[in-house]
Amino acid sequence: ITIHKAELVISAPDRHSWPESDLPEVVLAGRSNVGKSSLINTITQRKKLAYVGNTPGKTRLLNFFNLNDQYMLVDVPGYGYANASKTMLKKFGEMMEDYFAERTQKRGLLLIVDARHKPTEDDRLMIDFARYYDLPCFVVATKMDKLKRSEIKKNLNVIKETLLLREEEVLIPFSSETKQGVDEVWDELLKLFNS
Ligand code: GDP
Repeated sequence: ITIHKAELVISAPDRHSWPESDLPEVVLAGRSNVGKSSLINTITQRKKLAYVGNTPGKTRLLNFFNLNDQYMLVDVPGYGYANASKTMLKKFGEMMEDYFAERTQKRGLLLIVDARHKPTEDDRLMIDFARYYDLPCFVVATKMDKLKRSEIKKNLNVIKETLLLREEEVLIPFSSETKQGVDEVWDELLKLFNS
């Protein structure tokens, strides 16, 4: 796929700001610092569409990215940083609940995890949240370039087991450094966008 247009439509604090659009949407979620912005930039072949290195926890907005006037990526703020307040957690939950419950053009969830680490309780909550709303999910294990050869199989298995991945929920090894997995991510995204 060639991305000839990649544009931030809006950073929406709540449902009233969601763009009026009928493009199919895939949601991208993951812990803060997992490499989500890097993944967005890598798969769209842009240097700074998503802002890399933004202060963890600062953003509580859904970022809607229009790709080629065909597809919408919905970037969820990174979760799981240590000093999130209760109010912020509540707001985050409400924002996601609103989205999953009400956004009719949603097609799927891409959950991003760090290939080096066991997924956290927050990751489980996020994927279970999407499953509860019957949203198809797939998982990307990023920063694969940081693994030793001997760790690859083991770590991918830990991710599958911790998230209780189902047959149809694929796990894609990925790296924004080496570009490993870009085509596979697009294959899955297009399946969802066109579903
Ligand atoms: P976000 O908070 O999830 O959006 O994460 P970022 O994309 O800002 O990445 C967090 C840090 O991890 C940055 O220092 C990135 O350069 C680094 N990073 C992201 N993806 C990769 C990757 O695939 N490999 C390596 N080695 N570093 C990465």
